[in-house]
Amino acid sequence: MTDIHALLKNAGFAEGFVLPVAPYTNWTRHRQDGVFHPNTAPLADDPRSIYPWANAVLICVYPYTPYDDETLVASYYPASNRAYHAMKRLLAALNENGIRAERAETPYREQLASYGIGSRMDNQLLYLEPYGTYINLQGAMLALPEPVAYEPKRKPMEVCNHCGLCKTVCFGAIKGDYAFDWTRCVHTYLEGDTIPADAMEWLPSLLGCMRCQTVCPKNPKETVPIPEEVRETLDPVAILRGNRKEAGELIGKNLAAPKRLLRQAIVLAANRKRTDALPYLNEIAAVYGDRFIQELEYAKNILQNL
Ligand code: SF4
Ligand code: SF4
Repeated sequence: MTDIHALLKNAGFAEGFVLPVAPYTNWTRHRQDGVFHPNTAPLADDPRSIYPWANAVLICVYPYTPYDDETLVASYYPASNRAYHAMKRLLAALNENGIRAERAETPYREQLASYGIGSRMDNQLLYLEPYGTYINLQGAMLALPEPVAYEPKRKPMEVCNHCGLCKTVCFGAIKGDYAFDWTRCVHTYLEGDTIPADAMEWLPSLLGCMRCQTVCPKNPKETVPIPEEVRETLDPVAILRGNRKEAGELIGKNLAAPKRLLRQAIVLAANRKRTDALPYLNEIAAVYGDRFIQELEYAKNILQNL
């Protein structure tokens, strides 16, 4: 019998959970409450409808340590790229061992929470001992020789004490008592649409902030120095200069797409008063037409008046 846990550790994950395929009742309820972004609409409430061949869900945990300075970018993003590649290695290893396995497009956090694994927090993240919310989750559907049952190994815990700290540093998404308004979370501005004016003024870092977890008193306090490579590659002006390839290697091609990274870099360069960005703004307008017109206007208004 294939040792799935050995394979996932070998691929780079800290641990993983093999769960039966079941509908996610919490997910359905929260979705009905309007908590989730409309992009999650294609995720089925019952994965059996899209993966009828699967008899198990595998959810793997890729922990990471936050940078000592996350004002440029959160360490979550390079970590999520590494976790994505770890899952690629794991899928290949599972297939080599004769197990059909496909990346799962399912709500991993809700799946784990529905089995009492980890605790949902007011900031909508999942808290899992001993990592806190500093985890990236990757999932796969599996066809195993035998159906699985899950024996809970952890006690469900209420971890969030609703202290409100995450709410105070948030743009307006966190409402307390598990309520959340996705339209006011900066992660929403990674979908490629124009960033609303008030969000441009607020934007504190690239790709979406992680303030709600760095401020959380329940999270581990350990940090690592931000690597020089990250500082240099994700410097907003370096992005305007066109280092998309290097950025893609660090955070993944998907996040490095101009509609996400370039759009945010224009705004962040302005918010950081980087006048050395000015020569690139016209070049970007020439290449991309009016795709980033509002962000470019915003940046010029700030930088030309300094
Ligand atoms: S900061 Fe406080 S309210 Fe927010 S998730 Fe952490 S414990 Fe809960
Ligand atoms: S990522 Fe930022 S904007 Fe989104 S919920 Fe957390 S603190 Fe609020």
